[in-house]
Amino acid sequence: MTILALDQGTSSSRAILFDAELRPLQIAARPVTQSYPRPGEVEHNPRELLDGILSCAREVLARVPKGSVAAIGLTNQRETTILWDRASGEALHPAIVWQDRRTAAACEALRAAGHEDLIRARSGLLADPYFSAGKLSWLLDHLPGARARAEAGELCFGTVDSWLIRHLTAGRLHVTDATNAARTGLFNIHTQRWDEALCALWRIPMALLPEVRDSAGDFGVTDVAALGQALPIRGVAGDQQAAAMGQGCFAPGQIKSTYGTGCFVLLNTGAQAVQSRHRLLTTVAARLRGEVSYALEGAIFVAGAAVQWLRDGPGLIARPEELEALAALADPADGTLLVPAFSGLGAPWWSPDSRGALLGLSARSGRAEIARAVLQSAGYQTRDLIGAMQADWPGGADMVLRVDGGMATSDAVVQFIADILGAPVDRAEVTEATARGVAWLAAWASDLAPGPQEFARSWQAGRRFEPQMDPAIRAARYARWQKAVAATLAF
Ligand code: ADP
Repeated sequence: MTILALDQGTSSSRAILFDAELRPLQIAARPVTQSYPRPGEVEHNPRELLDGILSCAREVLARVPKGSVAAIGLTNQRETTILWDRASGEALHPAIVWQDRRTAAACEALRAAGHEDLIRARSGLLADPYFSAGKLSWLLDHLPGARARAEAGELCFGTVDSWLIRHLTAGRLHVTDATNAARTGLFNIHTQRWDEALCALWRIPMALLPEVRDSAGDFGVTDVAALGQALPIRGVAGDQQAAAMGQGCFAPGQIKSTYGTGCFVLLNTGAQAVQSRHRLLTTVAARLRGEVSYALEGAIFVAGAAVQWLRDGPGLIARPEELEALAALADPADGTLLVPAFSGLGAPWWSPDSRGALLGLSARSGRAEIARAVLQSAGYQTRDLIGAMQADWPGGADMVLRVDGGMATSDAVVQFIADILGAPVDRAEVTEATARGVAWLAAWASDLAPGPQEFARSWQAGRRFEPQMDPAIRAARYARWQKAVAATLAF
């Protein structure tokens, strides 16, 4: 028996087939078109997201005997907001992507009016354009007649999981899971219900909202017209929570960090929803058989995206894989630093108006030195986040970080993370941690895999990276980084 994981991400849609031991067997992928209608705006075509997932799933299913797939697990880019017509399933507007900053002024107004404490206390989030609530409110304000139609129950809001399930089940379900709901800014993470006060704050009619379910369980059965067979969908989780599960981080104190386009660090805090004093987010790590576990989360907007910038902006590399070799040529004495605040700085700074900076250049700084600054920027930002987490978490974090994601395939990237943290870093054997997380959810809900603790024990490190940097050098370099960030914030 196999499990099909569908991973609708920011830069690609993927389908990955896992065997009964949750090892990947087959993969199909399609890129996602990014559109940037105006500066600070990022949109996806909801139909393309759906078609990408359907065609990847069909491609993988065509390679294996019919009837061999037991269930589907679904994971997705979080916060991205879609509004559609309940009856026809047609989207009313392009999906507004998590990176989109168009609601910055609305968020600032809520902050200025003193509402951020309510948002933080109930949703665990901040008044920031990153989350769905402001994006949905913007859609209702800008699409003629949308608010009245929403109040009449004619429209549906959903994150990408809800949208895909709507279409995979031919309109039968309007559902989401607790990890995705926790990213909207409308969900009360303590009561596990949509929150009336938060909906009122953002002027969101509650008739728009999907039903919230546990991450492992019944999410309907695919319509034969969608995938050519009726397959039960049994696991759903937002991509970062899915990665934490795939990395086996179920115990309080465990940390994972995923280096894709952005970088997301999650620290499992168990049954305790820890409120951060350093502007980290409090979120739902998982809701399994009614039991909620929480996480502290730090989001860095630019990790692998800085590698893409190096390729597409100055054009210093042709492919991301070339980063490591070019950076290795850098002069050890050069001190060039990159603060990649291309679309503002995320946690723990939350400075939407900051922009990137290259600092510390000398006349000898060239391509290799800039490449090394890109490579190291992921490590420095990780240390900022983990420092904030350690200060927030009284339990004392288990300091073996588990990493995954496209940028973490580079040994030099992971070695620098270990060096600048001064702590060991484990890279998982299965680097597709996100897909593995929801494959496990679906397998467990189908009685084909063990529960969380036993599954966590099956996790294996592909490689451990031990810190090699001299502590005095580490301290000096990190102090320089902090000065660079301070300069960027002040600029
Ligand atoms: P996402 O899920 O956000 O689409 P992925 O996990 O697929 O991201 O990772 C893609 C990112 O990883 C890209 O931004 C790319 O630049 C970066 N990347 C991929 N391979 C390497 C590499 N060998 N070295 C450095 N960065 C890499």
